[in-house]
Amino acid sequence: MTINRTIALIVAAGQGTRLGGPPKQFAMLGGRPMIAHSYAALSAHEAIDDVVVVVGAGQSGMLAAALGPVRHVTGGVTRRESVRAGLETLADDAPARVLVHDAARPFLSAAMIDRLLAALDTHDGAVPALPVADTLAHGDATLGETMARDGLYRIQTPQAFRFEALREAHERWPADEEATDDAQMVRRFGGEIALVEGETMLDKITYPADIAAAEARAGVAMISRSAMGFDVHRLVAGEQLWLGGVLIPHDKGLSGHSDADVVLHALTDALLGTIGAGDIGTHFPPSDPQWKGAASDQFLGHAAALIGKRGGIVDFVDLTVMCEAPKIGPHRDAMRKRIAGLLGLAPDQVSVKATTTERLGFTGRKEGIAAQAIATIRVPKG
Ligand code: MG
Repeated sequence: MTINRTIALIVAAGQGTRLGGPPKQFAMLGGRPMIAHSYAALSAHEAIDDVVVVVGAGQSGMLAAALGPVRHVTGGVTRRESVRAGLETLADDAPARVLVHDAARPFLSAAMIDRLLAALDTHDGAVPALPVADTLAHGDATLGETMARDGLYRIQTPQAFRFEALREAHERWPADEEATDDAQMVRRFGGEIALVEGETMLDKITYPADIAAAEARAGVAMISRSAMGFDVHRLVAGEQLWLGGVLIPHDKGLSGHSDADVVLHALTDALLGTIGAGDIGTHFPPSDPQWKGAASDQFLGHAAALIGKRGGIVDFVDLTVMCEAPKIGPHRDAMRKRIAGLLGLAPDQVSVKATTTERLGFTGRKEGIAAQAIATIRVPKG
């Protein structure tokens, strides 16, 4: 029996990186990729039989990383084209009802879904709506005339439709005209759309500050933790010099069981420290032959993955390299970029500094290089 089925489409095809880092639907929010919140809410609702995600071109890998193997389809350049691609995949086994939701509205309640579906008993579609509370005014550089806000609403998603009404609207809609939402399209062709009470929790995430505000509204308490790491390796002739994941030309290199990248080792320890997960030797014992000559970026990746499993987010890392030679300055940007790439951060979330020790001690005598790191992360509380 498929006749009364309800399917949810999550539109997550945006390529925008206004938040910095990945497209916003995959940005971390409350310890999970943004899309994971609404996906979980829709999947868990007993009236919804299946959830299909519409991703942008080239985003299947990001979706799999965020949610695992889930049903999805590649959308188009515009939101309208993306919804249409989703509807087309459903058409062969058409459901009775469809919900279209934007991944950028992560906090969706079961009660909201209930209200929308109930309204479909008497309407072709239903949308969450909130009355406009702020004063509305025209303006340019200076304030213009205010507008009456009576009868004005902010329209949110999910938008719920009788499937055939939405499919027909998409088929009949002029190809050269854009539409800001699906409800307007159904309405254009005579569909009746119910306004149901929306929720401020459903407000769209657009700007970086919206993430913290949404986390606070949702009561997703993230606490900040910082931890440090320190490491030393001996400089010897006949070894390569790896620092911060970058091969640096020098007459000596660092010796150790792996590639002896003292910078990545200090940073790995700092990251492990933030979640109390021991140190690099706990995870990659020097006595284990499989780590002989190993590239240290995998140690860093392991530490970052452990933080990710805890729902954590790396906010910032700062490094100090201590040596007389080589000069670190010319390699600083390459190291920042490399470390940012390994941790999925923007380069401005990585700081690399260097100092000599005024020819004092083992670093001053060029016998070795030392590195210090401090990492700041956020993890869900409790
Ligand atoms: Mg080491």
